[in-house]
Amino acid sequence: MKRMAIYPGSFDPFTLGHMDITQRALNLFDHVYIAIGKNKGKDPLFTAEERKIQIENVFRDDSRISVIIFDYLLVDLMKELGTNVIIRGLRAVSDFEMELQMASVNRVLYSSSESVFLMTSDKYSFLSSRMVKEIASMNRENLKKFVPPAVEVELYKKFQS
Ligand code: ADP
Repeated sequence: MKRMAIYPGSFDPFTLGHMDITQRALNLFDHVYIAIGKNKGKDPLFTAEERKIQIENVFRDDSRISVIIFDYLLVDLMKELGTNVIIRGLRAVSDFEMELQMASVNRVLYSSSESVFLMTSDKYSFLSSRMVKEIASMNRENLKKFVPPAVEVELYKKFQS
């Protein structure tokens, strides 16, 4: 039986930190669904559809990844896909409290759901989508240090004046 997991998030945009977590998840699971939450973040830089295309481009050659958009409860999506595993990334202790809360809520809503927390590489422990957006709005030269090429090119276009 295929071991499947779902990696939900905003991914606005998808960073090398997200990539690191996805690759770690692929060491544990046969298939990973990257699920873009549509309603999270009131004022996204990229639409969910744009983010989906970007992430699909990042994993163009990897059939173990599917990218989906959802705008309802994560646990309902999990039941639909037939997986009970949620992947989340941890950067620092500060991520933990919120993640614990979400994992507990998901377990109340879907008792067999399990949250798997993966620790990012040290070199990405500072990296967030918010930081990438701030840098991109001021200086586009260093973006390749933070995002995959398929995202870099879209950030470049977005902030081109
Ligand atoms: P959300 O709004 O759901 O937090 P994000 O796109 O910000 O969506 O993050 C999705 C997941 O990826 C979260 O579990 C977050 O902790 C994790 N994550 C974000 N950036 C990194 C990073 N640099 N290293 C590891 N995990 C990360």
